[in-house]
Amino acid sequence: VPATQTTAAILSIGDELALGQILDTNSQWIADRLLTLGVRTAEHLTVDDDLASLTEAIRRLAERHALLVCTGGLGPTADDLTRQALAAAMGETLIEDPDALAHIEAWFAGRGGMPATNRVQALRPRSSRCLPNPHGTAPGLAAVLGSARVFCLPGPPHEMTPMFESFVAPEVATRDRAVRTRTVLTFGLGESRVAEILGPLMDRDRPSRGLPLVGTTASRGVVSCRLRVEAPTAEQADAALDATEAEVTALLGPAVFDRRDPASGDSPDIADALQRALLALLRGRGERIAVVESCTGGLIGAELASVPGSSEAFAGGWVTYSNEMKIALGVPREIIERHGAVSGTCAIAMARAGLERAHAADPSCAHAVAVTGIAGPGGGSEDKPVGTVWIAVAGLDGPAEARRFRFRGGRDAVRGWAARAALGLLRLRLIGREMPLLGEVERLASA
Ligand code: ATP
Repeated sequence: VPATQTTAAILSIGDELALGQILDTNSQWIADRLLTLGVRTAEHLTVDDDLASLTEAIRRLAERHALLVCTGGLGPTADDLTRQALAAAMGETLIEDPDALAHIEAWFAGRGGMPATNRVQALRPRSSRCLPNPHGTAPGLAAVLGSARVFCLPGPPHEMTPMFESFVAPEVATRDRAVRTRTVLTFGLGESRVAEILGPLMDRDRPSRGLPLVGTTASRGVVSCRLRVEAPTAEQADAALDATEAEVTALLGPAVFDRRDPASGDSPDIADALQRALLALLRGRGERIAVVESCTGGLIGAELASVPGSSEAFAGGWVTYSNEMKIALGVPREIIERHGAVSGTCAIAMARAGLERAHAADPSCAHAVAVTGIAGPGGGSEDKPVGTVWIAVAGLDGPAEARRFRFRGGRDAVRGWAARAALGLLRLRLIGREMPLLGEVERLASA
């Protein structure tokens, strides 16, 4: 079966969407709901309030897809053209729907009577049917255009979503096909490196062989491997995903830190996934960590503290921005004088001093991470250019180590990368695995 016969398209209608004055959240919501119903959306389109463009868009999308869901443009004013465009695309005239008219009249009954302009909302293409709207005046429309089913829903999300659930979901849910997704989260490798490692697993023709499609996206250092498969049953889809997930996980090794399975109710939000994974590891060991931050100025602590319940595993720490504060914490003055504040030796001394103090105050505090670097834009030199960051970890379980990184981008980017790399380095240490992290250029092991 060619993909074009099973896929869906979503059409968002309105000047304010096309102009970027409001964000199109309807399309995201609908595509996500359709996927859980077993329908894959292949195309999103946004068109302004222009009759010719709208008519053309409806025609073209209905030709290429089995399902078309439109939102917006069903209001009573002159710029609401969805009804006319659908009729034109179908080559039909508009007729007045008595039930829809009665509903609109009833809606206005307690509100001083129906304005004459609202009467147009009861119009529908001859062969279509109106979908009642309990939350507003605009009825939706359901029609058949060629081999496609077309639904037109109101724009306001609180009107659109109930109408989708009442009329679209029951009609499009597939029992002969399941679409399932899974996400494997990695940290420490660049997106192109992940693609290189996955190799043929990322071939675009895998679905034609019944295998899950694998794609990657990157956000704040986390590269997500997204798996998606269509199969006759959910069980078959899950089995195919299990096999591919195992392959992906084996290939990417220690970079993999979490997974998401929407079918088991996992949240799609990955913004704080790395911190969560690290804190979970610590909780499992009954240990806490402390931070000693220079150029990140508290970012690592903030990232950890953003996770609810982090106090179980995050003890606290120090922002030692100036040399004097580093010395006050316990870094020997000679180290700073001999090696500079941005050095592996200083980073290790910071981590050790932090660990010693934190452990004395809180015996469960068993690890410390320290960061010192040049975030820019000034302060760089030839041998320590802007973006140079040393990150050190010290723990009760072994010798301290430091890694030098070279991060790119502006001040915020460098500081953000440094904080993320610190979390990533701690995590590697806790799982006892080894890999170079993205941006790493040198290592220093403590004596
Ligand atoms: P109604 O007559 O109930 O207003 P309508 O179908 O005419 O329905 P529009 O006028 O197109 O709807 O949009 C009304 C409002 O709904 C917009 O101003 C916007 O706030 C919201 N809206 C419309 N489309 C979207 C969308 N794609 N995503 C999020 N919000 C939307």
